[in-house]
Amino acid sequence: MSFISENIKLIRNNLPEKVKLVAVSKTHPVSAIKEAYDTGQRLFGENKVQELTAKYEELKNLDIKWHLIGHLQTNKVKYIAHFVDMIHSVDSLKLLEEINKQSEKNSRKIKCLLQFHIATEETKFGLNLQEAETILNSDIYKKMENIQICGVMGMASFSEDNKLIKEEFTELRRIYNEIKNNHFLNDNNFCELSMGMSSDWDIAINEGSTIIRVGSIIFGQRNYILK
Ligand SMILES: *Cc1c(COP(=O)(O)O)cnc(C)c1O
Repeated sequence: MSFISENIKLIRNNLPEKVKLVAVSKTHPVSAIKEAYDTGQRLFGENKVQELTAKYEELKNLDIKWHLIGHLQTNKVKYIAHFVDMIHSVDSLKLLEEINKQSEKNSRKIKCLLQFHIATEETKFGLNLQEAETILNSDIYKKMENIQICGVMGMASFSEDNKLIKEEFTELRRIYNEIKNNHFLNDNNFCELSMGMSSDWDIAINEGSTIIRVGSIIFGQRNYILK
């Protein structure tokens, strides 16, 4: 058995049943994705449009659900709209409008998560609660028919401080609850809390995560020279 399949099985054995595992395959070759696929893994995450599109093309015959987890530029939505299953990184109304438009062109309904900024670093993308409220209260959003907002996503600080990480995930859960109550109380599609990566997925699960996005502890360290 390869190390990839062993790693995936180890994680799965420790996941509550309702928590989904997105295997983050960025920078890793298609052969690694196939190994994970052969263990039954179906959700894969990529953070760059070009890499995502290339891997999708190569693996078109497999029933993989592709998740875009990284920052998405409006002008690149058109390259993924015909196949992407979920976009975790919606951080503006303008981006949501473009996803809706491209999704409509493809007669689809694309699942989206609103990305929130919960970390202490300034470099990470994401909305605050007030910005999200402005989007969800807008007439433009209310007229959209080809996107489905399924929940929220966030990344904790890059830190060894587990208490800080836990507080940030608690904050994201509070944001999730607030948005659920204000806008999606009767919408069962709004049910996802995407948080937790290789270093903090166990903390995230304790804070109510429903989707963890895990890369390096499955596929190994990334070789950034290849990026
Ligand atoms: C790379 C990435 C991950 C996975 O990171 P690991 O630490 O390798 O598990 C999760 N989420 C996002 C948004 C990423 O870009």
